[in-house]
Amino acid sequence: MPGGPDLILKGDQSTVRSINRALVLNLLRQHGPLGRNELAERTRLSSAAVTGVVAELIEQGWVIEGRSGPPRGGRPPVLLELAYDAWHAVGVKVMEGALEIVLTNLRTDVLARRHVALGSTEPEALIERLVAEVNGLLEASGRSPERLVGLGVGIAGVIDPEEGVCVYSPFLHWQQVPVRRLIEARLARPVHVDNDVNALAAAEMLFGRGKGARNFAVVTVGRGIGAGLVLGGEIYRGADGGAGELGHTVSEPGGRACECGKRGCLEAYAAEPALLEQARERYAEFRRRALGAEDLVRAAREGHEGVRALLGEAGERLGVALANLVNLFNPELIVIAGEGVRLGGNFLGPMEGALRSNAFNGLAERLQVHVNPWGDDTWARGAAGLTVQREVFARPRV
Ligand SMILES: [Zn+2]
Repeated sequence: MPGGPDLILKGDQSTVRSINRALVLNLLRQHGPLGRNELAERTRLSSAAVTGVVAELIEQGWVIEGRSGPPRGGRPPVLLELAYDAWHAVGVKVMEGALEIVLTNLRTDVLARRHVALGSTEPEALIERLVAEVNGLLEASGRSPERLVGLGVGIAGVIDPEEGVCVYSPFLHWQQVPVRRLIEARLARPVHVDNDVNALAAAEMLFGRGKGARNFAVVTVGRGIGAGLVLGGEIYRGADGGAGELGHTVSEPGGRACECGKRGCLEAYAAEPALLEQARERYAEFRRRALGAEDLVRAAREGHEGVRALLGEAGERLGVALANLVNLFNPELIVIAGEGVRLGGNFLGPMEGALRSNAFNGLAERLQVHVNPWGDDTWARGAAGLTVQREVFARPRV
């Protein structure tokens, strides 16, 4: 076929170029700033190849030449850095009654944010509002829409990230909602949709504690309990995108009813709504008024033995689930995140104790457990990290 081999050759060259480009961008993200020689050493590419890739990245505005590094024999090398502030991303966390939206730079540092209360979770209306608010945030920031790498959306539930479809979200009562298609019909930028915990794991992998780790888990505690699993440097999703439903692993066979319809799930004991429910069941003083997690934290701090015991039991159940996770996947790091970290030492202490004492011999010895401080924008930043990861740092598939 005339032209056939040529086309293949062109295809190969462009694939090679995008692989090299991803290599250089990721090295600068992990170890930058770096000089061209060091990039050549670390990538094992020729100096000419590195010079070519770098020239293209500088021209396109992804990389900037910064200060000079220490001399290595000859004249001091010019150091290259990622142009973190030249680009931006938007992250949105969709919740039952609200949207949390952030505009970030490439490092997912927050530049501006918006909290939007929602009256309804009807998909079309919600997406309409989401896009209007994102446009509003961008306009108010004065940042150029052309420099928006993309929009990331995090949703609790089972998500098909390839198609950008929310397969099932119990909190939103959504089934088969084509979130990406609905947004792309209204906003001409790349859109990525994923499970909120996986989005957080993507952000942790890029710029958080997981930056140097190949095998780690991000475990979130709050409205629910979830896990984002990074195995061999990739987010592990399972056959249907449902991997990491740690909150619905069984903690007590036949136990408390869970929102998912089953019984005895971890979430029915240790997620925030379950803790509040158990506090009300056990102690009359918590039945009289609207109760929040902060009330439990305060009661525990003021010496309420019952609440301390409740938090301790829940922490222990989570710790046992984490030990099971360690025994299955042998991660080097577990990052604990989500609003539940505010429950503090009464919850986290027993959690780590149960994790260490129940993990299989040796597997927990080198394991690091890191608790991320809670911030209201944690989830939305994760969603921004998701889109940065996919649009800028993802290695092309071959
Ligand atoms: Zn459940």
